[in-house]
Amino acid sequence: IDKIRLFDVDFVNSKFSEFAKVMEKHVLQKEKAYVVTGNPQIMVETFKSKSYKGCIEDATYVTADGIGVILASKILTKKSFPERITGFDLMLHLLEFANRKKKKVYLLGAEEFVLNRAIHNIKMKYPDIKLVGSHHGFFSIKNDGEKIANEISQLKPDLTFVALGAPKQETWISTYFSIFESGVFIGVGGSLDVLAG
Ligand code: UDP
Repeated sequence: IDKIRLFDVDFVNSKFSEFAKVMEKHVLQKEKAYVVTGNPQIMVETFKSKSYKGCIEDATYVTADGIGVILASKILTKKSFPERITGFDLMLHLLEFANRKKKKVYLLGAEEFVLNRAIHNIKMKYPDIKLVGSHHGFFSIKNDGEKIANEISQLKPDLTFVALGAPKQETWISTYFSIFESGVFIGVGGSLDVLAG
């Protein structure tokens, strides 16, 4: 998949549909992947913290999520991304795919009541998804990050949506990515709040 290098990071340079197919292939072939949906907030965090920058560099793919990233690329590299690939759109596409293929999904993030409402809505709309587990997002990575990762590792979801916001979601994924045997992990920011309605 073609990339554009911007702010010292390689961003996926493809249409949404092409990238969505790549994600589907990862799921079907049980190949691990870690996806950062890069928005300006994430980029700013990489400027502030070297260790967080490392978390972004660990990603299998970084997509151009924000309009700010698209504009910055036009100005700084003279190259244009064909379109945005947002965490929310990716999540909707992959929920639909998981429903069709009866795949296993895990949800991590948001406040407990928001998460429960999102779960309710997902079960209504995507009845064939195997929702294997969930955990709210207000835990400390230092105290409980590993415990949650071990639980997920046992459950072996095909897709894990990590909605902890930046920088927490990328920090958690990159810290524990090596313990997972399989699965696609995507940082999706405030998407569970939207799905909760
Ligand atoms: N969140 C969380 N744990 C935290 C901090 C935030 O689960 O420790 C959740 C928060 O409830 C919200 C999401 O992470 O659902 C962050 O949303 P935001 O809109 O800030 O993220 P963005 O989409 O801008 O990255």
